[in-house]
This record gives sequence, structure tokens and C-alpha cells, in this order.
Amino acid sequence: MRFLPIGSRTRGCGIMARHVEQPRRILNATDRCDTRGCNAAAYARVFFEAGALDYCGHHFAEAPDSLLEKSMYHLDETWAI
Ligand SMILES: [Zn+2]
Repeated sequence: MRFLPIGSRTRGCGIMARHVEQPRRILNATDRCDTRGCNAAAYARVFFEAGALDYCGHHFAEAPDSLLEKSMYHLDETWAI
């Protein structure tokens, strides 16, 4: 492991990035909010028996508790916003 002094900058391929553990996102830019008329990038996926719905951070925050109670489980990546 290589430590760099505070304020030093890396060149090229970002050596510093190796030292930062960040969770990987499962949803990507092609996943869009399924709320009608939205189409923003999805940051949450709610799984139901019949399938899954994707939500942007805004619509996931607005989703009623009853929605999540009806789901089997959900993926919340709103931390990445
Ligand atoms: Zn949305």
C-alpha cells in the first residue's frame, strides 16, 4: 500500500483510487426510473413476485411504505447520488 502526503496529486491512472473502498453499484446509466414521465437515472430497484421496478432517488424517496411492504426486497443505491 502506498500513502501519499495530503495535498499531493496523482498523475495518470489514479493511484489514490485504489485506497478508497467504495461499494460498487449494480444499477447503471441504462437503468431508468419507471415512474411515468420521469426517465431519470435509477438509484433503486424494488423486486416484486411479478418483476421489478426501478426508481430514481426522488421517486424512491416518495414511494409509500406500502410499496416496499408489498415487495420481496429492494436495492437502494441512493447513497451514490
Ligand atoms: Zn423518477
